Amino acid sequence: MKVLVINCGSSSLKYQLVNPESGEVFAKGLCERIGIEGSKLEYEVVAKDFEKKLEVPMPTHKEALELVISHLTDKEIGVIASVNEVDAIGHRVVHGGEEFAKSVLLNEEVLKAIEANNDLAPLHNPANLMGIRTCMELMPGKKNVGVFDTAFHQTMPAEAFMYALPYEDYKELKVRKYGFHGTSHLFVSETMREIMGNPAHSKIIVCHLGNGASISAVKDGKSIDTSMGLTPLQGLMMGTRCGDIDPAAVLFVKNKRNLTDEEMDARMNKKSGILGLFGKSSDCRDLEMAATAGDERAVLAEKVFIYKIKSYIGAYAAAMGGVDAICFTGGIGENSANVREKTLEGLEFLGVELDKEINSVRKKGNVKLSTENSKVLVYKIPTNEELVIARDTYKLAK
Ligand code: ADP
Repeated sequence: MKVLVINCGSSSLKYQLVNPESGEVFAKGLCERIGIEGSKLEYEVVAKDFEKKLEVPMPTHKEALELVISHLTDKEIGVIASVNEVDAIGHRVVHGGEEFAKSVLLNEEVLKAIEANNDLAPLHNPANLMGIRTCMELMPGKKNVGVFDTAFHQTMPAEAFMYALPYEDYKELKVRKYGFHGTSHLFVSETMREIMGNPAHSKIIVCHLGNGASISAVKDGKSIDTSMGLTPLQGLMMGTRCGDIDPAAVLFVKNKRNLTDEEMDARMNKKSGILGLFGKSSDCRDLEMAATAGDERAVLAEKVFIYKIKSYIGAYAAAMGGVDAICFTGGIGENSANVREKTLEGLEFLGVELDKEINSVRKKGNVKLSTENSKVLVYKIPTNEELVIARDTYKLAK
């Protein structure tokens, strides 16, 4: 079985050809700057350590996908003889609203229902839908499956997902917390549960820390709360997103600075977070280097970043009545020993004891970072959203 996993952004297309049973990745890559000058394709054959990059015009996602297919089926550098070998196609869809609590086989009716959520994710959902329609056009007859970023969090109870706005804003406008990064929180918490021996009861906190960052409370395998909200702007401080602020600050800054709605939106989504406080970069590596060198704003940005994560860990331990395991994932969570150590500093009262030596050594795969005496397990677990998409696709399409 071979599943093609597609993650379409407004100007990008990420792809992986995966065996959903073994997890083997045959080929993967990325098309960037679609519809913009300087479009680029990256193509990698994992088993052969073969990598190719080329710049070639891709006016639309159709040309991008054609290029991906021609590489996958190329006589010399391809991994399949023809698209007949692709058994099904799995798509990442960002917003499933309240309709989709699970992955779903895609047809015209389902696409319309996804389209109805476009308002809730105007940057992401239309791009995801375009990817789906392009695949249906270029590879007719294949089963396509939609896997939603929001689905895993649909188990949140009302007290976690409701905002205390007038009730009609929920009923009529669907304004509530949805949560994102669901496939990652699912993958990491399930991996953690397996490591724990699949106990009937478990209280797991997953810290997904990348450019986008979110944290979730997973009780007995179900998400009961998560930090992102109606959109991926709520919650932790991120690379360029502000995360939680007083909602009144939005109107205050907008009015004082005479900004349009779009400018204010961009200020919060693209100019805030690490970039906003540090001022020089949104990248955590740059931040850490500058903080080590004594840059005051870098030190401040790092402190705020860590404080937010720590506060959520405290909140979620309280929400679950304790915590058995804390997992770190995402580019920062998997790679930054500094962020992990500083986040867990002072959490000894919860029963957390980090093995600082193991934490500071770079090791691939799932790594236990807590000491033998620690009451709370601490793990680094590399996320694998594509594998979740491939597995769900396989289950629904076979
Ligand atoms: P995205 O949300 O775009 O998928 P990633 O999960 O790839 O983001 O994470 C990107 C972040 O990971 C960047 O801020 C980058 O600086 C950080 N990162 C990657 N490697 C390291 C490292 N060795 N130390 C600290 N941060 C790292």
